[in-house]
Amino acid sequence: MKSKYIIVKGIVQGVGFRPFVFRLAKENDLFGNVKNTSTGVHINIEGEKHQIDNFIKDLKEKSPKESKIDEIYVQDREIRKFNDFTIINSEKDEGTTILSPDIAVCYDCLKELDNEKEDRRYKYAFINCTNCGPRYSIIKSLPYDRNKTTMKKFIMCKECGEEYENPCDRRFHAEPTCCKNCGPKLKLIDKNNRHIINEGKNVINKTKKLLKEGKIIAIKGIGGFHLVCDGTNYKAIADLRKRKNRKTKPLALMMKDINEVNNYCFINEKEKKILNGSKKPILILKKKNNKLPNNISFNNDSLGIMLPYSPLHYMLFDDELKTLVMTSGNLSGMPMIYKNEEALDKLNDIADYFLIHDRDIYIPEEDSVVKVILNEERMIRIGRGYAPINFKYKKDNIIALGSHMKNTFSLCKENYIFLSQYLGDMDTVESIENYMFNIKHLNKVYNCNPSKIIYDNHPNYFYHDYLKYKDLEKIGVYHHHAHIVSCMFENNIDEKVIGLSFDGIGYGEDKNLWGSEFLICDKEKFSRVGHLKYMKMPGGDGATKVPWKMAISLLESWASNNLSISVEDLIKNLSMNNLFSYIKYKNYKTILYMIKNDINTPLTSSMGRFFDGISALLNFQNMISYEGEACIELENLAKKSKEVKDYYDFEISYKNNQFIIDRDKIVEQIFKDVINKEPASLIAMKFHNTVVEFSFSLCLYLRKLYNINLVALSGGAFENEILLTKLYEKLNNSDFQVLTHKILPCNDSNISIGQMVIGMNKES
Ligand code: ZN
Ligand code: ZN
Ligand code: FE
Repeated sequence: MKSKYIIVKGIVQGVGFRPFVFRLAKENDLFGNVKNTSTGVHINIEGEKHQIDNFIKDLKEKSPKESKIDEIYVQDREIRKFNDFTIINSEKDEGTTILSPDIAVCYDCLKELDNEKEDRRYKYAFINCTNCGPRYSIIKSLPYDRNKTTMKKFIMCKECGEEYENPCDRRFHAEPTCCKNCGPKLKLIDKNNRHIINEGKNVINKTKKLLKEGKIIAIKGIGGFHLVCDGTNYKAIADLRKRKNRKTKPLALMMKDINEVNNYCFINEKEKKILNGSKKPILILKKKNNKLPNNISFNNDSLGIMLPYSPLHYMLFDDELKTLVMTSGNLSGMPMIYKNEEALDKLNDIADYFLIHDRDIYIPEEDSVVKVILNEERMIRIGRGYAPINFKYKKDNIIALGSHMKNTFSLCKENYIFLSQYLGDMDTVESIENYMFNIKHLNKVYNCNPSKIIYDNHPNYFYHDYLKYKDLEKIGVYHHHAHIVSCMFENNIDEKVIGLSFDGIGYGEDKNLWGSEFLICDKEKFSRVGHLKYMKMPGGDGATKVPWKMAISLLESWASNNLSISVEDLIKNLSMNNLFSYIKYKNYKTILYMIKNDINTPLTSSMGRFFDGISALLNFQNMISYEGEACIELENLAKKSKEVKDYYDFEISYKNNQFIIDRDKIVEQIFKDVINKEPASLIAMKFHNTVVEFSFSLCLYLRKLYNINLVALSGGAFENEILLTKLYEKLNNSDFQVLTHKILPCNDSNISIGQMVIGMNKES
């Protein structure tokens, strides 16, 4: 007879781990107990040696699908003569455990949902079990127990209670378990009189009827509210866009099943697996045809699609309703709405009806967005199903505040780094409040009390006022260094790398706005060894929204370095040929004056702004209505060209230990192609190829000079599939080891991880 004490760490709570341990103990005739603590699952076990060995082996090999064991500690104990195996109440203690992300409804629960004759949860919208259901979004604190979640207020009925207590039941200790008699209920509400038009069993049918009539319904899901309408109804979608003031940004879809997706998009095996998996993100897929209304995603060769992930979502579909538009329920620039009252108040001008329920969401999360590029799943927006992500790393006690746009933050506690979900752009009071709420929440859940705070050196970031009052050790980090280090970290690289950070804008050491940076760096320091020649950015940050200002800036730069031409002549020449002609309706003369006289024209090396300028020169006329729109349009334009390998000539100069890529020559050739009426798609592709070529050439120089063979690619510009794919392949074919993002988004959502790792490696 032996006695052991076992501690299991990792994602082991909220994933059916204790019931699994219980069954394993019974199978092996072992006595003892199991409990959740805030450091993980703790097990007392007594029995014969071979049985205990078997138990530990199975613990590792047969653990529940959604769990992830990081460590198992086994200690000898005095024999205490247990006479049964039990699950005992949770305890709070010092230390760290890990929150489980939300899990999409499982196959067993779906079977029950459809089982009219035999199941008491037939058509019940909140069905879940130990293998599925909400977690992160409903947990208020750890350890994971029903009374620490928003399910606390629902007292289990007798039948649910029996399932919960029965070790042989799938709902044994399933914390959010419930049924029609004891759990949350749906209500359908009319926006005008806030009248409850339906409750109980016909709610879903009524909702579907309204959707089929072209109505817009705000539906409360797992991470927050969605605005939903029939995805095959052009007018309903147009109404939604108009009311939400969402001009062109693509809308996400939810489809009935994979067959439906197959009708509109190409899907490979990897993509099929992602769609059907237990995380259920929005997956960006290539369109097969244009059978769906074009106002779902204008001028775009792809669609963002997810499959239903909650029982409620499943029930919305039938043979007449197979495609729904499902976009975040928020007002432009604001965080996603997740409380009933707030939805009724703020979405009142958008939705016709509200489908709400009384299971509260504690932590709002957007749907995650992923895309398969170079045959790897790559994160674009980290949210439901993925967040929070944890990484094992060094022991420390830090918070990293992240970036201003596409914010996430990171916490380090003990040996773990925790990355928050995507929190959006920090331009509104509401977003900042949501950010503060989430910081407070995760600090509490993980029992963190950071002693160090890491921030971006940009002086205008939203958190600098807040920082002033914090009496902690503070470390400032440069944006592009953080990008590259996040990529190194994700790829487990400690050596020096050549880092390419291609991006919108990040504050640089010389106070200019960097964004096409070639860095030689490690996890502590960096030096800038190359970038695009600076461009003037008329009006500063504001130019980000108005791509044609960058086109003027690019033309002016070329003309000012060439005595024989003037920018006015260039513009005249274009408009005489019916090109770039929209410019005459803009106040471009003021902008030109500003550029020529250096009035409010900060310098930038941003790759994003370079793309913007070219996009505007080719066809993009308007102000952008979402971040990166002009760059995305340029990419979509390029995708319309046939396979083109040509690129424009470029010049790279070397001075003061830095390589400078001259854009003027590239702009000159593009200008000539435009005048010669070459197809815009061809020019767009040649431009992409040019960026790939000069980046590749510079990597060759840098390899020679610094003897480094590792290249890390980071920054939001690498969301561009052409750029990422072509540059990766080119580098790879020349025997570079290329590091790219998969788990972390390449955009500014990775900044907090880079900051964290730099903060941990910097000597203070
Ligand atoms: Zn289930
Ligand atoms: Zn019940
Ligand atoms: Fe960035």
